[in-house]
Amino acid sequence: SVEIRKVDKFYGPFQALKQISASIPPGKVTCLIGPSGSGKSTLLRCINFLEEYDAGEIRIDGRLIGYETPGGKRMASGKLREMRRRIGMVFQQFNLWPHMTALQNVAEGLVQVRGFSKAEAQARAAEALRKVGLADKMASHPGRLSGGQQQRVAIARAIAMEPKLMLFDEPTSALDPELVGEVLNVMKQLAAEGMTMVVVTHEMGFAAHVGDQVAFMEAGELVAVDTPAAIFHNPADKRIQSFLRTYN
Ligand code: ATP
Ligand code: MG
Repeated sequence: SVEIRKVDKFYGPFQALKQISASIPPGKVTCLIGPSGSGKSTLLRCINFLEEYDAGEIRIDGRLIGYETPGGKRMASGKLREMRRRIGMVFQQFNLWPHMTALQNVAEGLVQVRGFSKAEAQARAAEALRKVGLADKMASHPGRLSGGQQQRVAIARAIAMEPKLMLFDEPTSALDPELVGEVLNVMKQLAAEGMTMVVVTHEMGFAAHVGDQVAFMEAGELVAVDTPAAIFHNPADKRIQSFLRTYN
């Protein structure tokens, strides 16, 4: 599980995260919604320590992310790389290497980070690509793939590393509408297999139907974390109501 406790994050004088506390239960999908600039990406980036936070704690399976506390003093952890490699991240932009095939894109990290032989890495990469429905595109370069296919390669690349936690930051926002479904379906399948997921999304249908819990952020605050039914059908907070109104 991921335990987030009283996290503050500043960019200079600007406070992007204000005392964020939340629990991300294992094997569940947590969807993170909220207006632009509310701090969703910042929170996700703090969870895998792409971003340093200024106060509070984020623990993954009990371990403090990014820090060790020898004698109570907080300092950057040398184990950060090892912790981070168990966290998969998928961004709006797919960030694939254009000069490599789909298979090579997925296999690369398995060789570089996990230390598998080239043959073992390619076998695992092929398996991951099959899982996302791209068995027939392994030899294709990203430039020859649709946006939805490229994003599925990016998901395959992340899951091939056997993460314990997957973070998605608006994985379908850069896609043409007709390609959104194929990516959401792959994510739905991952969820059904019990992957722990945090998904920043503007796809309210996905949040409502696949999310086990939905977190709503506004202006750096985590306003509510609740069931999809409570958030979408009976939101207690006026800020949630007015946000959801912009989607109807
Ligand atoms: P969106 O839905 O548009 O992606 P978001 O909820 O992901 O928005 P963040 O990207 O987390 O929002 O940004 C939260 C706030 O922090 C914004 O006001 C943003 O301008 C600010 N911010 C983000 N990154 C930086 C940075 N590197 N330096 C300064 N300010 C930043
Ligand atoms: Mg964002």
